[in-house]
Amino acid sequence: MHKDIATPVRTRAIMEKYGFSFKKSLGQNFLIDTNILNKIVDFAEIKELTGTIEIGPGIGALTEQLARKSEKVVAFEIDQRLLPILEDTLSPYPNVKIIHQDVLKADVGKMIEQEFSEMEDVMVVANLPYYVTTPIVMKLLEERLPIRGIVVMLQKEVADRIAAKPGTKDYGSLSIAVQYYTEAETVMIVPKTVFIPQPNVDSAVIRLTRRQKPAVEVKDENFFFQVTRASFAQRRKTLLNNLTSGLPEGKQRKEDILEALRLSEIDPGRRGETLSLEEFGRLSNELYRFFHETR
Ligand code: SAM
Repeated sequence: MHKDIATPVRTRAIMEKYGFSFKKSLGQNFLIDTNILNKIVDFAEIKELTGTIEIGPGIGALTEQLARKSEKVVAFEIDQRLLPILEDTLSPYPNVKIIHQDVLKADVGKMIEQEFSEMEDVMVVANLPYYVTTPIVMKLLEERLPIRGIVVMLQKEVADRIAAKPGTKDYGSLSIAVQYYTEAETVMIVPKTVFIPQPNVDSAVIRLTRRQKPAVEVKDENFFFQVTRASFAQRRKTLLNNLTSGLPEGKQRKEDILEALRLSEIDPGRRGETLSLEEFGRLSNELYRFFHETR
């Protein structure tokens, strides 16, 4: 087996060889601990015929561990300076393909079709660039890609919000958006010391397992997310107040909103953060009848 990339000595040697300097603006914090990397790979439960997508391979620390377990790894890297480095560090792994592209602009669905047609399932595994974690996670979910799940390192604070349960301070529209599509759990808290350079915030690894179908059945997804966002607009306000100020023409439609709350058996004095996903589903379906269906 080849020597691991993810050690402090090897990482520094690679950087020196190529005169590479970190770009903070691209969220470049590289992992230098193989134990952590192995745990991340284990959480992803990669099987022989799992196609693996990585976002931001850096100098290949995680890519290498994935390539040892997975039949095929495709990684999106935005920073051109890393391409010659990856070609060198990953030369022992012909099953890795690097795509030089901003993942937010990539047609990931098409790539899966082209690259993973022979695979049994597909996983996304990454140590995400922290300046764009939420847009990346939401892109992967909203595009309804045929993936089994996502195991990613991100800021602990974002992990807390994603996996939060109703009634907690972290529970909000991001928790609902992610849990609508997946079962979300924080599987590991990670200290700053396993990166160079060290990030300013604590990190965590989350595992998102895609649901066969969304957690609740809603009449209109966009409207459902509009209702959840409005409900959390001002956390200290009641549901009724947030909905009247956050929904289109909400003030004139106060009576309709009250009626929708009554029909969905939700007390208008409650706060958004106490509602379960199922309750938000019920509420948005009742509201939808008043806002979008002719009676
Ligand atoms: N995977 C490596 C590791 O664990 O050591 C590097 C992780 S580092 C936190 C994030 C990586 O994502 C960097 O290599 C950075 O250049 C890359 N990156 C940043 N923004 C990106 C984007 N929009 N699309 C693809 N890659 C991106």
